[in-house]
Amino acid sequence: MHEALTIFHILFLFLNFSSVFLSSYARGGLHQSNHSGYVDNNYGGSIRRLYAEKNFLVSEEEHFQKLEKLAQGYMSNSDLEKAIKAFNGRCSNISRIYSIGESVLGVPLWVMEISDRPGEKEAEPAFKFIGNVHGDEPLGRELLLLLANWICDNYMKDQLATLIVDNIHLHILPSMNPDGYSLRKRGNANNIDLNRDFPDQFFPMNDDLDSRQPETKAIMNWLEEIHFTASASLHGGALVANYPWDGTEDRKKNYYACPDDETFRFLASVYSKSHHNMSLSKEFPKGITNGAFWYPIYGGMQDWNYIHHGCFELTLEISDNKWPHASELPTLWEYNKMSMLNLVASLVKTGIHGRIVSSDRGRPLPATITIRGINYTIPASKPFADYHRLLAPREKYEVIATMPGYRSKSACIVLGEAAMTIDFVLDPETTHPGSQLIVDSDCYFENKTSLKVLELLPRAHLELSIVLILILIFLCFLMNRKVISNSLYQRQSIGPKRPAVI
Ligand SMILES: [Zn+2]
Repeated sequence: MHEALTIFHILFLFLNFSSVFLSSYARGGLHQSNHSGYVDNNYGGSIRRLYAEKNFLVSEEEHFQKLEKLAQGYMSNSDLEKAIKAFNGRCSNISRIYSIGESVLGVPLWVMEISDRPGEKEAEPAFKFIGNVHGDEPLGRELLLLLANWICDNYMKDQLATLIVDNIHLHILPSMNPDGYSLRKRGNANNIDLNRDFPDQFFPMNDDLDSRQPETKAIMNWLEEIHFTASASLHGGALVANYPWDGTEDRKKNYYACPDDETFRFLASVYSKSHHNMSLSKEFPKGITNGAFWYPIYGGMQDWNYIHHGCFELTLEISDNKWPHASELPTLWEYNKMSMLNLVASLVKTGIHGRIVSSDRGRPLPATITIRGINYTIPASKPFADYHRLLAPREKYEVIATMPGYRSKSACIVLGEAAMTIDFVLDPETTHPGSQLIVDSDCYFENKTSLKVLELLPRAHLELSIVLILILIFLCFLMNRKVISNSLYQRQSIGPKRPAVI
């Protein structure tokens, strides 16, 4: 018996060591090292994953030749441009194309916008996909063309495609780095890693506008033009959905949570759970990871999106093999299809949405939305003052709408899996000019059901709303439930009705 236990222990230890070895082997998609194991020393230690490939160094020339072979069956830059234009020609009723700038070598950075009203402003959230950030990670650019065409072909036939087209403005940039792609290398034509070229929150880097790469500038200007609620960039070399923060203040490899850690874990899980096998990862529990926990990077696009533009960006590593054989593309599309669609659709299927208007003239207000306990502010979009606040389902949130010169209002909600709409009507501040009054709300509804009432009612109908509220309270009293009301009305499903935990 004792011997059997010892053998068992030895076997157990061996298996554990094996898994450590395998996970470090797999990290960074070492599986593709036969294809793209060349390490460009220009990127030094900052490069993601490639350090693991050191044992497989090949010459630059050999590496280039291998990628040249693999590129057969992939679209060239001119093929891509033709495919984008062909898509737009075929789906002109629900798309438009535009360029956000040019690469170092003058290749246009084409974007496809998909919406029932492309190019128009609507009170809808916008999502962006960016592919091919790294020149030698071309899978994203192929999948994004497949995605655009699939939505086009299935609009008004498939529920998800129709939901996306009708309710979201989806912008797709298949290649952020066309020069790197044609040169078969990670960086752009100036050999700069574009995912290290953004301003950083912890270290003064990339702050000089003149030295910023044209591809990076194009993205930064793009976000000045369009307010994106969420986005994802597509990479290769691993299989995981990566979320902020990407860096740490002390440069140490640690879990470094951003204010919306819970929301990001939820969003990353939307992708990994819908994927063929991402959530089954042995290296990354549930197929998701905090960027800094994996390994810190600085000057990345993901953190910059969240910090500077209220855009919840994920960095999606969609294949261990950076440059899979072209014959695998249809399979990889099938593996990622539902993930991509569900991630985009999560913009309207989850979270809190609504508009913020003034009570005096019903004007849209450029107000902000905050959630008590989360140190992050979402601006309402112009010109309709619609807001789209992504959040993980939770039993209690306090949502606060704030606007200088107006009295703030808050709503307590139970957020289930489904999205919620909460419109805010703010009253001009008259009693204490210049000060911000937070309306106290009773967020402690233990053993109660929360029903908040807020409606876009003109003042003339206020009396009617009070009567309606009283009737509601009376009805709920009859049902032996308490109603909390301070003029807030929840128009959609409020999720599962269960006692909140304080
Ligand atoms: Zn990459």
